Amino acid sequence: MQKIKLKKGDVVKVLAGKEQGKSGKILQFSKDRTRAYVEKLSMVKRHQRPDAKGKGGIVEKEGAIHMSNLALVCRKCNSVARVGYRILEDGRKVRVCKKCKEMHDE
Ligand SMILES: [Zn+2]
Repeated sequence: MQKIKLKKGDVVKVLAGKEQGKSGKILQFSKDRTRAYVEKLSMVKRHQRPDAKGKGGIVEKEGAIHMSNLALVCRKCNSVARVGYRILEDGRKVRVCKKCKEMHDE
């Protein structure tokens, strides 16, 4: 199976781990791009030093989830999509849901 590239802003579903079955939007990737931070998922508590506004203490932040445990959710089917690539007439390569043909790249 061809590994589909995930992008920032994609809605993904977690396939394994403690957040299995949940979905959220990708906020950012780890530096080596093997993990992603998904909005409101895999929250971890972190101690933060007070900032200029005097705000500090314990804050909750997204923890990294391994990319192999994430799958792209089709915004049209609203479920985990089997995604393939399609080359457009202008040469752009876009991700397309195999079920509903929805394009996942602008
Ligand atoms: Zn679809």
